[in-house]
Amino acid sequence: MQTTIPDFKDTEIAFSYLSDKELKQMSWLFSMMNKPWLVNVGSSVGRWAVQWNIPFARPIVKATLFRQFVGGESLLKSMGTIEKLAHYKTLTILDYGVEAKEAEVDFNATLRENLRAIEFASGNEHVPVVSTKISGLASNPLLEKVQRGDTLSRSEEEAYKAVVKRVEAISLAAFEKGVSVFFDAEESWVQKPIDELVNSMMRRFNKERAVIYNTFQLYRHDRLAYMIETAEAARSEGWIFGSKIVRGAYMEKERLRAKEMGYPSPIFPDKVSTDKAYDEALRYLVEHVDTIASCNATHNAESCMKMATWIDELRIDRNHPHLNFSQLYGMSDHLTFNLADCGYNVAKYVPYGRVEEVIPYLLRRAQENASVTGEMSRELDLIHKEMKRRELV
Ligand SMILES: Cc1cc2nc3c(=O)[nH]c(=O)nc-3n(C[C@H](O)[C@H](O)[C@H](O)COP(=O)(O)OP(=O)(O)OC[C@H]3O[C@@H](n4cnc5c(N)ncnc54)[C@H](O)[C@@H]3O)c2cc1C
Repeated sequence: MQTTIPDFKDTEIAFSYLSDKELKQMSWLFSMMNKPWLVNVGSSVGRWAVQWNIPFARPIVKATLFRQFVGGESLLKSMGTIEKLAHYKTLTILDYGVEAKEAEVDFNATLRENLRAIEFASGNEHVPVVSTKISGLASNPLLEKVQRGDTLSRSEEEAYKAVVKRVEAISLAAFEKGVSVFFDAEESWVQKPIDELVNSMMRRFNKERAVIYNTFQLYRHDRLAYMIETAEAARSEGWIFGSKIVRGAYMEKERLRAKEMGYPSPIFPDKVSTDKAYDEALRYLVEHVDTIASCNATHNAESCMKMATWIDELRIDRNHPHLNFSQLYGMSDHLTFNLADCGYNVAKYVPYGRVEEVIPYLLRRAQENASVTGEMSRELDLIHKEMKRRELV
């Protein structure tokens, strides 16, 4: 049994999957992303240039942001990334990187792609989970209407039945093929129907193992209580609760909407409160490992260290199948590979899709990295530390 405590400052382990050339490329890319003006200009020009097929736009994006943050253009083309991660004891969560759409034909296309990913994952031991978003399978205005409890027109009712069918088809395929599905958490004004749909799937399919996981955003002040309520319902009804926790990605949008529409913001007023709720949720998940399968999805080193420490203190096996960590592909390698090296279960969220399809995802990563200078500098510091260690600078 491994007892070594992970050292997130160990850059040798963190970057051993990169050649010297790849490390230098990563350093260059992260330095570029550290310049907000460049990210802002690049975002507008890049999106436009790829959409309009401007010569060289595609290869430039492909050689930079795409290579850093995306597994490949298709499932098959992501194989290299999956195998490389597996070599460093890290699993893959496949995430079809297409953003929310508004037409039935697109929702059906996402459904087909999710089913293909489940089929692919069932034949690959390094891919235990496929991630999806209900907003890729349903129109947002429809979800909002359902959440508000508005009366649906006949065509809206039909459309919502189709949404339920898509969610069922994905869940059933995962159940039959021995794969799990993470349903992402989204904006608070569409989350209620998502919770209801995902809960009903957990109730149906999580009898023997955690096939379906819902996601809980701990920046919302009501989510810790809701997560515990769901756990208690699962225990009394006899199913395994799948819980992925995150802090939450839509803080500014949530606050702005609440302000504009004059209702109280669902988000905690400060980061300390979010962190406190996150810690409490994490502790609850580790303590209830027998009945809850969880994923600690974060780039926060403290949250990772806390979970690792609690697992050891409570004498739970580090590779207990119910306890998992996850980071996005291309980010926070110091957490992923050091945790994996110490025997904890870790998976990277690996988006895949054609360059044109994943452009919004890539621009979000670039924007996010440009806006959180603290985190970015830390990432860059670690890359530079490793470059020095390898005597590249
Ligand atoms: C594998 C993975 C899967 C993810 N899936 C989802 C998903 O399904 N849905 C989703 O919404 N997000 C998802 N995210 C994103 C996640 O919610 C966070 O936005 C992101 O990971 C940053 O939070 P952190 O815990 O990594 O790091 P930290 O840097 O410690 O936390 C930053 C986060 O803290 C919160 N925060 C910051 N400032 C304040 C403040 N003033 N007041 C209150 N709260 C504050 C915000 O949520 C912010 O994003 C996912 C992230 C990962 C790594």
